Amino acid sequence: MTVAPEVVADLRSDTLTRPTAAMRQAMVDAAVGDDVYGEDPTVAELERRVAGLLGHEAALFMPTGSMANQVGLRLHAGPGQEVITDSLAHVLRAELGAAAAYSGITTRSWVAERGLLEVDTALEMMVADGGPYQVSTACVVVENTHNFGGGTVQPLEEMRRLRERTAAAGVGVHLDGARLWNAHVAAGVALADYGACADTVSVCLSKGLGAPVGSVLAASREHIAQARVWRKRLGGGMRQVGILAAAGLHALDHHVERLADDHARARRTAEALAQAAAGVVEPAAVHTNILVLDVSAAGWTGPDFVQAAAERGVLGYPTDPRRARFVWHLDVDDEMTDRATDRLSDLLARRTGR
Ligand SMILES: *Cc1c(COP(=O)(O)O)cnc(C)c1O
Repeated sequence: MTVAPEVVADLRSDTLTRPTAAMRQAMVDAAVGDDVYGEDPTVAELERRVAGLLGHEAALFMPTGSMANQVGLRLHAGPGQEVITDSLAHVLRAELGAAAAYSGITTRSWVAERGLLEVDTALEMMVADGGPYQVSTACVVVENTHNFGGGTVQPLEEMRRLRERTAAAGVGVHLDGARLWNAHVAAGVALADYGACADTVSVCLSKGLGAPVGSVLAASREHIAQARVWRKRLGGGMRQVGILAAAGLHALDHHVERLADDHARARRTAEALAQAAAGVVEPAAVHTNILVLDVSAAGWTGPDFVQAAAERGVLGYPTDPRRARFVWHLDVDDEMTDRATDRLSDLLARRTGR
């Protein structure tokens, strides 16, 4: 009989957080109404709040980040048009072909080191008006922070340059800001400064912010009016959903600044693991709460390392054959971090024979 190991730290994703007692109370106390009729005051408050933070005119509460992204893309592009982004972007890798399945959108991508935005590459690839010969690019997607890139923060200056050049060509920008909160806290850049670099912005409340459900799409009033139609069309019209929006508002009040703790813990672990095995991680490249280890540098495959770590109670996710990802969040404290770090160090050092 095998006994499941005690879980030291569940670092598979920052989606795993459970609502705190205070968040649950906020949900209980929420004023609600039918949001498809536009009558839920708590949803309206959340939408106003997020629009304001991102410097956009309006916003729309969404059940998931994938829906927020896909409705965002649909506002820019229709059947036979294209969206371009880097090859590891969530909209390409992890939304199950939704842009093609729902909107008939085609995609092209470039390979980006750690998901870092390469404006010149994007501009070279972009075809603003392909006429009757080439597919026209309707939108460029920027992901900040970049999930599969390892929680990378995109440089604001590059985002600004992309925005200027695409706007001049009549091409849109969608910002997949599922973890824009982490970028804001790590880089000290105002959310509205990032928001100004895109026509449409999606943000998640259910990642590091710790809400059980929910994302928000922000854009112009006109775009959000269209987004409301697309959300309903996709089956995302929700009724007394203020009960969930209340969790989001609570998260905005209490869980944004604390993301710095997650970042510090991920960095601390990276520093220890870089000592344990050369080449698995560059600690300075760990900008936020996501640690991607190149475990091949220590003689492991990603899946084997994740399996061995799980047997020692540290749960992660194999992003590809060479890499393993560990993500910090609200439910992981300093003590759990220290214990997890010891176990991961031990595993890495073992193979390299140190
Ligand atoms: C999690 C995530 C999303 C949205 O995911 P859902 O599970 O659909 O909420 C979008 N973009 C990025 C970069 C993400 O990490």
